[in-house]
Amino acid sequence: MLKVTNPANGSTIAELATDTTQSVAVKYRAARAAQPAWARLPLEHRLACIRRFREGVVGHLERLAAVLTSEVGKPIRQSRNELNGLLGRIDFFLGAAGETLAARAVFDADGMRERITYEPLGVVANISAWNYPYFVGANVFVPALLGGNGVLYKPSEYAALTGLEIGNLLHAAGVPQDVFQVIVGAGEAGGALLAQPVDGVFFTGSHATGAKIAQAIGPRMIRLQLELGGKDPTYVCDDVDIAGAATSLADGAMYNTGQSCCSVERIYVHERIHDAFVEAFVREVKGLRIGDPTDESSYIGPLTREAQLEVLEAQVADARRKGARLLAGGRRLDPPGNWFEPTVFSQVDHGMALMREESFGPIIGIQKVAGDDEAVRLMNETEYGLTAGVYTQDAARAERILAQVAAGSVYWNCCDRVSPRLPWSGVKHSGIGLTLSTYGIETFTRLKAWHLRTP
Ligand code: NAD
Repeated sequence: MLKVTNPANGSTIAELATDTTQSVAVKYRAARAAQPAWARLPLEHRLACIRRFREGVVGHLERLAAVLTSEVGKPIRQSRNELNGLLGRIDFFLGAAGETLAARAVFDADGMRERITYEPLGVVANISAWNYPYFVGANVFVPALLGGNGVLYKPSEYAALTGLEIGNLLHAAGVPQDVFQVIVGAGEAGGALLAQPVDGVFFTGSHATGAKIAQAIGPRMIRLQLELGGKDPTYVCDDVDIAGAATSLADGAMYNTGQSCCSVERIYVHERIHDAFVEAFVREVKGLRIGDPTDESSYIGPLTREAQLEVLEAQVADARRKGARLLAGGRRLDPPGNWFEPTVFSQVDHGMALMREESFGPIIGIQKVAGDDEAVRLMNETEYGLTAGVYTQDAARAERILAQVAAGSVYWNCCDRVSPRLPWSGVKHSGIGLTLSTYGIETFTRLKAWHLRTP
């Protein structure tokens, strides 16, 4: 049984039957049998299903937001934001799939024609994270289904109710039961899924789990995508509107209670404005409202996972021991629930875990730098490479800096942002492969090359 707990108060919301090795095998076989017919349907049919799925999300938005908030602890306004953001992503896929997946004629002369078609991979495993279950799930299952694949979707054990809601909505929208199936459970269920002879593995989660999966899947020669963590840096130059940058970056660091893969996790500030920026930033963070996630005015909710409280406490203790200056927060709040105060440190350096290891919580270190070169060096001094940003009035300076930073996405005067039109990917320990954009539609297909000689 999987006990679903409300992270705001520790109460049990539901107990779900988990999948076993046997039930996962049954689901796999059903998906394998059903996928070819799904792939043979005209794309227009699959598009219509996803359009109806979108309508279902709109029709149930308030209830879905409440479920998400109850199991993940996401403040209710942010749950609604995620669902509304999902609609924009679906619209992108609906608009782009036809052209992206259309067969291409690339040569026609002297009786010889050449073309490229986009074939589904087959049955794919979609193992997902809890922090943005609608976003990271739909980045995979929507284009995978549009491309004609069967999908075995394992939501995180921390977002299992949401995963089941997604399954119900897709089935109500006309996606056959066997073509999209939800697998309930934690790592064991994920392992059982990976033991099946699937044709692709699309994983979102931590580097630690991603590395294990890469090792297991590597020799099987199937498509493997890993969207992993980050330690995303931002550099604030000496020419910025300090108040504006502080507001934007406090949001980038603390939104979703700091539990975003692209949360700002490190801030470097030019020495000329360092003190003024820190003051403005701390003021912003102290103004963030922490409270019951069902309350419309709450901005900071509980952490989804209790175990992360210890990670944050250890980072705080390590930073303090090594001389960092604690400017806000720094401790967990009394139970029930997994609460941690929004926390800001200055006078940090890369000797501290806070500046090296993914925090995945409402905590941030601010480091003073002498100039652009030092900032670039420090931004790149990480095992990760998901996103990186710079705040400056000077476009050329921004381009120069961002061109030198190793990251999948780079931001000028913005942060913690994902666009369906742009590929979402990481370098180094942030993963391999990509989702979103037209490339994130193609990636659920294999290209078939046709050499056709007319007799
Ligand atoms: P996690 O690695 O603990 O779990 C991810 C998924 O893997 C869950 O569904 C889990 O049940 C499953 N799993 C665990 N062990 C497994 C195993 N041995 N075999 C198969 N499946 C297994 O990560 P999480 O806590 O759910 O997510 C947080 C992490 O995800 C953070 O590091 C965050 O940065 C990252 N993330 C990345 C992106 C991105 O787009 N790059 C997006 C969201 C989250």
